[in-house]
Amino acid sequence: MSNAIIKVSNLTKKYGDFEAVKGISFEVMEGEIFGLLGPNGAGKSTTLEIIETLREKTSGEVMVNGFNLDKDPNEIKKIIGVQLQTSGYYPGLNLTELIRLFSGLYNRETDPNELLDKVNLRDKAKAKYKDLSGGQKQRFSIATTLINHPKIIFLDEPTTGLDPQARRSLWELVKNIRDNGTTVIITTHYMDEAEVLCDRVAIIDSGKIIALDSPDKLIDKLVATGFENPKK
Ligand code: ADP
Ligand code: MG
Repeated sequence: MSNAIIKVSNLTKKYGDFEAVKGISFEVMEGEIFGLLGPNGAGKSTTLEIIETLREKTSGEVMVNGFNLDKDPNEIKKIIGVQLQTSGYYPGLNLTELIRLFSGLYNRETDPNELLDKVNLRDKAKAKYKDLSGGQKQRFSIATTLINHPKIIFLDEPTTGLDPQARRSLWELVKNIRDNGTTVIITTHYMDEAEVLCDRVAIIDSGKIIALDSPDKLIDKLVATGFENPKK
C-alpha cells in the first residue's frame, strides 16, 4: 500500500464573490504522477498554487508529507519543487550560470552538467535561456525544480504550446522523474496527455472534481455512458 503524500480536504478558494474552487477533496499517492485535467478557468492553477504555499486558500485543509499547510508552510516549501516563472530567468546568463544561481538560492551544491544530462540539455550548457526552443525551455524549467531534491514536483501545463515531438520528449522526462522516486502533480487540458502520462487523474470543471480514477477506468466509464470516442 502506498501512502498519501498530499491530502486535500474540502478546499475552497474565493476571489471576491467568485468561488473558483468549490470544496474539492483528493489525495496524491507517494510516487505517482497525478493529473488535474480540466478546461481553462477550471481552477487547476489556483489549486496547485495553494498546495505550493503560493496562494491563500479560503477554507479547507491541506496536508503535504504530514505537514499542515496552515501550521508548517516552511516545512512544505523545503520538500517541493515548483517551476519558476520564466520571466524570472536572467536573459544574459547561460544554462550553467542559471543553475549555479538557483543552487545558491537553495543553498545546494549542484553539478550543472549532471542536472542538464537529466533533461537532455548538456549540449546547451553554454546557451542562453532565451535562445532555447519551446520544448528546451520547458525541460530546463523542469530541471530547476529538481535542484533542491524535492519529494514532490508541481508542473502547471508544461506542454501547452509545444509541438507533438517536444510533448512526447517532455512526457518521457516526467516519467523518468517519477521512476526515480519523485511524486509529480501536473495540470493539463489534454485528455490524451493525461492518458499516457498520469497514474491517476482528477477531472476538474468549474471548481469541482467531477471524476477521479486511473485514465483507463475514466475512459471505460465515459464509454459506458455512451461517449462515442473509445480508446484507440
Ligand atoms: P485554470 O488554471 O484551471 O485555468 P485558474 O485556477 O487559473 O484556472 O482560475 C480559476 C478561476 O479563477 C478562473 O475563472 C479565473 O478567472 C479566476 N481567477 C484566477 N486567479 C484570479 C485572481 N487572482 N483574481 C480573480 N479571479 C481569479
Ligand atoms: Mg492554469
